Amino acid sequence: MSFVDVQTIALAASLSALVFALVPLMLMTILDPAERVSLRYWAAGAVAIGAASLVTALRGPDGNTYMVVIANAIAVLGFGWVYIASRRLLGLPKGRRYVYLVAGVVFLAGVLLEGILRQGTSEILLTSAALTVFPAASAWIFSANRAELPPLVARVTAGLFWAVAVVYATRAITALIWLLLSAGSPMLNSSAIPYYLDLILNTWLGAMLALVVSARIQDRLRTERDRVTRANERLRILSTTDALTGLGNRLQIDSILAEYADPNRPQHLPLSILMVDVDHFKSINDDFGHPAGDAVLRTVASTLRTDAGTDGAVGRWGGEEFVVILPDTDHGAARDYAEALRERVARHDFEIDRAVTVSVGVATTSVPPADTTELLRRADSALYTAKHSGRNRVAVG
Ligand code: GH3
Ligand code: MG
Ligand code: MG
Repeated sequence: MSFVDVQTIALAASLSALVFALVPLMLMTILDPAERVSLRYWAAGAVAIGAASLVTALRGPDGNTYMVVIANAIAVLGFGWVYIASRRLLGLPKGRRYVYLVAGVVFLAGVLLEGILRQGTSEILLTSAALTVFPAASAWIFSANRAELPPLVARVTAGLFWAVAVVYATRAITALIWLLLSAGSPMLNSSAIPYYLDLILNTWLGAMLALVVSARIQDRLRTERDRVTRANERLRILSTTDALTGLGNRLQIDSILAEYADPNRPQHLPLSILMVDVDHFKSINDDFGHPAGDAVLRTVASTLRTDAGTDGAVGRWGGEEFVVILPDTDHGAARDYAEALRERVARHDFEIDRAVTVSVGVATTSVPPADTTELLRRADSALYTAKHSGRNRVAVG
């Protein structure tokens, strides 16, 4: 099977594992501390698997027995860490203890079987069985949790882990048959297949990890951006809405007026403004209480909103004063509008033992660009006139 000798391919596999380890190490620099744990396991797993291959590569055909035992235990530990990392990548709980337990048993049994009892085949059986466990477990979770990753990525990852598991399982079964037949040492350790597979697996896992992590970062950025956009929109609405009446507040009115005053925008002339003020509102508060006063303000606001329809803009200027902006409305139409509004409020049943009325100041301009500051000033002075000529009336400024 081998085109090159086992040592060379083991060396190549160990180098690929070290390169693979660089991927999580680099990704760690751009992730939050909480997410680094999973990457640490990927890196540790890769380094351990790489180190095990390196020991095999350095050992040569007749190397030290204990080096094999240590390399096997490290390989089991490496695949165990990769399994833990895989669990975390797929959002599963860790299950760390078994990894150390299995690696520990493999090491101690290796020392006993290989070093002391010289039972090489038993050692191969045990190590191969242990090396089957974690790749098979990794393959299983990648198969069972496909939704967490792009389907093809999950399938290839699972497939590669299965292949590794099958290779080690085959070696374990062969060793078992050899043991049962008492046929002596099968020299199974010299197979290059696991290292070829390791090489492919390491390369793939590095690419897969970079892909998945960067996709998740992008996903998180998108979610975060959406959240900020929504929060900004909420803030914008909050900052321009009057909490009591739900109308636009002064900030909102100012920004609408600024648009009408902009010479670069359509002018909508003639432009009219109404200043609406509740008459003797202080006494409503004094006589019926602040909550009753609030209810009156809400009702007046909803009357204004209904009347303004879709063209006009209504806002609460402050206290018990409101502003209505009427684009494309001359002063005659604005006065009629104000008169109808005044009447509607006067006729409305506010469910308190007091007639609630409003006074309205009207101002209109036909000169482009609309001088909205001047318009407001004129509407305010018309309102003053309405108040001083007896209230519950409309005055044009
Ligand atoms: P005029 O007819 O001259 O407009 O008299 P007025 O009593 O309506 O005017 P004045 O400016 O003396 O009083 C306005 C009152 O509106 C005083 C203030 O306590 C009350 N007010 C302002 N904002 C609110 C509010 O949000 N809720 C309630 N209930 N009262 C408010
Ligand atoms: Mg008032
Ligand atoms: Mg007032």
